[in-house]
Amino acid sequence: MGNRLGKLSTGPRTPRAAKTAAGVSASMAAMADSLDDFAERKLAEIASRNLTRRVQATARGPGALTMRGAKKLISFCDNDYLGLSQHPAVIEAAAAATREFGAGAGASRLVTGSNPLYDALEARIARIKGTEAALVFGSGYLANIGIIPSFVGPGDLILGDELMHACMHAGAKLSGAATHMFRHNDVDDCARLLNKHRGNADRCLVLTEGVFSMDGDRAPVGALAALAHANDGWLLVDDAHALGVINGGRGSGFDEDGRALGVDLAMGTLSKAAGSYGGYVAASRVVVDYLVNRARSLIFTTGLPPGVLAASEMALQLIEEDDELAAAPLARARTFTAALGLPRAMSAVVPLVLGDETRALEASARLAERGFLVTAIRPPTVPPGTSRLRFTFSAAHDEGDVQRLIDTILELGLAPERQPA
Ligand SMILES: *Cc1c(COP(=O)(O)O)cnc(C)c1O
Repeated sequence: MGNRLGKLSTGPRTPRAAKTAAGVSASMAAMADSLDDFAERKLAEIASRNLTRRVQATARGPGALTMRGAKKLISFCDNDYLGLSQHPAVIEAAAAATREFGAGAGASRLVTGSNPLYDALEARIARIKGTEAALVFGSGYLANIGIIPSFVGPGDLILGDELMHACMHAGAKLSGAATHMFRHNDVDDCARLLNKHRGNADRCLVLTEGVFSMDGDRAPVGALAALAHANDGWLLVDDAHALGVINGGRGSGFDEDGRALGVDLAMGTLSKAAGSYGGYVAASRVVVDYLVNRARSLIFTTGLPPGVLAASEMALQLIEEDDELAAAPLARARTFTAALGLPRAMSAVVPLVLGDETRALEASARLAERGFLVTAIRPPTVPPGTSRLRFTFSAAHDEGDVQRLIDTILELGLAPERQPA
């Protein structure tokens, strides 16, 4: 529970020397616990648990190719599900907007940073989502920490899926609302918590992800919307991994016939399948107008660079115009799960849970030796004991790439034992 907090504990404090009358040993103690010492001690602790994280320079493109130093790797772990970050039309749109308007926004959207490109982008998002309006934030993270506290606060109730993303936890915490986690994708457990806590609260917000980022499974969006509404509550769905992939690219807020499932706040990001950067929420006009007046992560931060807005707009145009494009990641993922006897993929994300951190790191290193980039995912991103390889599939892969990956995983003995048919 709460494993997506993205938080490494600062741990127990080391006792400091007590203050003496002269204050000498107190200042010595302060010296001994310098910032560098503190960081070094914490890093050693993290390393002892095999949880060290490093940023590694990685040059992406063309396609799914990446360069790490002199090493060429095919990436099966980024979220550029449609390869649009590398698409010539998207790149050209970014370049043209940058030439026309400059490199940066210059100010917050409420001052002079709301380039006219925002209007076209928001209109397109609203059309894709079937809502009256949409609002673009600096990132998905900024969207969630701005939206959630705008609708609930102290005295209110939040119910969230236990596997929801770190930025929803952050938004919930910022809001000050009483927050309870229901078991992953368990509508009955959510109902149980509503029965228990709804009466004590004024407003109520339910939080989930359309496609879960580390597991690739999908939320029961329609059932959660009905449950939230029956309890005088609202539903926010974070569709970071569903836009561009699910329901012809429109996301998880629709049934197979394209009917809306009743999501009140359809939130997502432009930094995954749209290949660009930025967050958004699609909702009614009045909800968007209210957020412009309340969401602190919109008001007190600089607008997105014009090139980024133009790239997002072009990417969404490509998604809307090409029905085949959005189907590609799921088709590749299903080729992969069928070949390895894994549960059928529900999205572009396929986890291979290995349990132990060391095993996940080892497996990632083996795959890198064979030319595949698949980063090991460890706590606190995932619950303890569920370290994994997280494979993602993209329209940028060709079938040969996917087949070579399958063959390599079989050779390395990483696939689970096949169930007898
Ligand atoms: C990536 C992600 C975000 C954050 O989006 P950014 O635009 O990268 O800040 C939010 N929610 C989920 C579920 C994500 O996977």
